Amino acid sequence: MAKQADLLPVDVAQRLILDQFSRLEAEEVPLGDARGRVLAADTVSTLNIPPFDNSSMDGFAVRSADTGGASHRTPVALEVVADIPAGSSALGHIEAGQAARIMTGGPVPAGADSVVPFEAVEEDGAVIRLTSPVSRRACVRDAGQDVTQGTTVLHAGTQLGYPQIGLLGALGCAEILVSRRPVIAILSTGDELVAPGKTLRPGQIYNSNSPMLAAAVAEAGGVAIEVPSARDDPEAITDALRSVPHADLILTSGGASVGDHDHIKGVLNAHGRVEFWRVRLRPGKPLLFGRFAEKPVIGLPGNPTSSAVTFELFVRPVIRTMLGAAPYRPRITAVVDDRITHQGGRATYVRVRLRLRDGRFHASSAGPQDSAMLVPLAHADGLLIADEDRTEIPVGADADVLVWRLPPEAQEFSSR
Ligand code: AMP
Ligand code: MG
Repeated sequence: MAKQADLLPVDVAQRLILDQFSRLEAEEVPLGDARGRVLAADTVSTLNIPPFDNSSMDGFAVRSADTGGASHRTPVALEVVADIPAGSSALGHIEAGQAARIMTGGPVPAGADSVVPFEAVEEDGAVIRLTSPVSRRACVRDAGQDVTQGTTVLHAGTQLGYPQIGLLGALGCAEILVSRRPVIAILSTGDELVAPGKTLRPGQIYNSNSPMLAAAVAEAGGVAIEVPSARDDPEAITDALRSVPHADLILTSGGASVGDHDHIKGVLNAHGRVEFWRVRLRPGKPLLFGRFAEKPVIGLPGNPTSSAVTFELFVRPVIRTMLGAAPYRPRITAVVDDRITHQGGRATYVRVRLRLRDGRFHASSAGPQDSAMLVPLAHADGLLIADEDRTEIPVGADADVLVWRLPPEAQEFSSR
């Protein structure tokens, strides 16, 4: 058996892999398709937003100087000389003693410097009366108050959600320069594997890693190509790898360990090279990195949880790096609620549930930490990181957790 010291530490393995990848080229997509994509360049505004001074209320545009002496005893009367709806292009102008009826978004006419809402005036035909002074710029949105022309409003590497799409829309951007999505081919290997939907015969199991990894690739921002699974046979695996169309990275699942029928390493040695094999990690020790011909290959272990954890630690950061986005998931500090023990010697990623109590996150085991089991994985909110040099994390201690999702109580609306 390999000595732990012969295995690569997780961070060293991450570095060795990430050093082989860089941001992909940029492409233009229509604004309507840009959600989830990653900006390839800073967005510099060519406009002021708003482009012109406009009203933030439905009311009357006035000259604040006219209203200085207004009170209940001495109301100020102004003559309404114009009507300015939103979209109005008429360059209005008001003189002393005049006002213009104006709707929210309507351009504030020259001469006016503030808007009084309908609620604050008394209307009497073409005359309005004000009973209190109006301050300068009241209810006026200044040109450029949101965005000044020439400023950077979004940075390269930003993943676009709907608020960012809204901002790009306001700037009038119809085509957005984003990083090309990395194409990731997925090849599961194993004589026992059957695609979901087929009938299981004795000794067979469903291939769950291919759909799981395809979903993980898509979630990270890549495009997954699922190759039909290959039998545990070097020729079948070689043929399957040869059949992969253009891909920025090939993922294999299974056959990476020391079993009699684990052939990925041999195939890479024969048709490319192995850069490294095995990391000081639990679950996921048999991780493999190499090349098939010149195509980069990350060999993930077959046990579903090992596959998921190694995807998280080694593949997702590659996809994010190719996108030019932040490589790692957010980490939080959580209080450990269950005593966590592990064998030590390898960094251990414990599947945990999270709870939010009294303003702090608490972590407890999501179930048996067996890398073949899928239910604890599916119920986990994140991965708690237990360092290789500790074998126990006591109840009440703090630990780092890579967060997949927040618990429901952290998502509830609170008006606190
Ligand atoms: P291996 O890494 O090939 O030794 O596989 C380790 C364990 O994971 C075995 O129990 C396999 O049956 C299982 N396994 C391998 N590939 C998959 C897959 N694609 N989907 C689900 N389980 C798998
Ligand atoms: Mg196998």
